[in-house]
Amino acid sequence: MRLSATESELFEGLRDIPVIDAHEHLVPEAARIARNVDFFVLFSHYCSADLASAGMSPDTYRRLQDDEDMPPEEKWRLFEPHYPMIRYGSYARPARIWLKDVLGFDDLTGANCREVSERLQEANCVGLYQRVLRDRCHIESALVDNSEHHTEYDMDLLRPLWRITDFAFGHSVRAYLAAEKPGALDGYLDWVCARGEELRQVGTFGLKLISFPYSRPVMDEAEAVFEALQSPEREAQLTWTDRTPLLAAVCDRALELARRHSLTVAVHSGVWGDFRDSHPCHLIPLAMAHPDVRFDLFHLGMPFVREAVLVGKMFPNVSLNLCWNAVVSPELTVRVLDECLDMVPLNNLIAFGADYRIAVEKVHGHLVMAKECVARALAKRIDRGQMDVAEAAAIARLWLYDNPVAVYNLHREGWARRR
Ligand SMILES: [Zn+2]
Repeated sequence: MRLSATESELFEGLRDIPVIDAHEHLVPEAARIARNVDFFVLFSHYCSADLASAGMSPDTYRRLQDDEDMPPEEKWRLFEPHYPMIRYGSYARPARIWLKDVLGFDDLTGANCREVSERLQEANCVGLYQRVLRDRCHIESALVDNSEHHTEYDMDLLRPLWRITDFAFGHSVRAYLAAEKPGALDGYLDWVCARGEELRQVGTFGLKLISFPYSRPVMDEAEAVFEALQSPEREAQLTWTDRTPLLAAVCDRALELARRHSLTVAVHSGVWGDFRDSHPCHLIPLAMAHPDVRFDLFHLGMPFVREAVLVGKMFPNVSLNLCWNAVVSPELTVRVLDECLDMVPLNNLIAFGADYRIAVEKVHGHLVMAKECVARALAKRIDRGQMDVAEAAAIARLWLYDNPVAVYNLHREGWARRR
């Protein structure tokens, strides 16, 4: 992407700075390299939303993503009709940045899809995460939300969060009952806290929650949800909102643990699925009920970005984390960063988290895009004479490194990276 002279000077200055990747779902490296990859790994994950909107059937997407034995030429035949419709979109750009920066191709074609696949598979071996995240991206550590693998990470590089939304779902309630624990809500909430304490002791760097319409839990209502979740048939009839009395009860207990141990609570909002359910303003009553707990509000609640910015501005225990935003829309991200410079204290914003599960390669392109957004927003202030390059570079470093270290206390005793 061509940048202006000021944007480019700032961007180049950010090329080698240390970065915290403030949100991922990456599986442990052993699980990633246990599977074969091909060119489609670059177009998996978030591209799925655009491919579905462009008309690709769920079955075709599944085959492209999961069939590890299908030859690349066959995959290209399925992918080619849809690719022109998504290739200029920002979800596709991290894939194209990897093709260009690392493999040296201007674009993916029928002629190079086999070579691209072979080179991705060649690199799909021990040390992949080190090479991509540390060597290429200069990522000191990444916060990762993936409760299936919580205790399997190299915790120097990948720092897991404890996902508490899971406890408002039947699989958790049924796991609890299968452990032959007392069948009442109180016992369940004690078990949830014991689980959190166990994970905290082996290493957890925060809690993860989805924004939901919180109010002080009414225990009878929470008990009714707890009972309904004991049967998969009854659970199938519940909406997201129906679960909230139980989630509120879980939160009140889990957030007590967060408060005691100064663990920050990451809060997903907006973007995905029925994004009305995870409106960023739902965080207001929760943040007010727990003034001593620190919350980190994700994704600017897209599309409710102005509301999210005001939540970050008005509530001292809420910071804004722009993970995922740079690839949802860089244009929108640049505009919001510009407004954040007006409204949000500099230490209250985190500018990068790549949010991938399998496609670790795409972290590189996502980081390039996030740095471009930061450089473009700050360059405008320099060109207007409101700050100089050194001041802008210092702000960028806060947003990309110092703030996530502080918000998640990443240099806590015993966990600071050996340097
Ligand atoms: Zn995520």
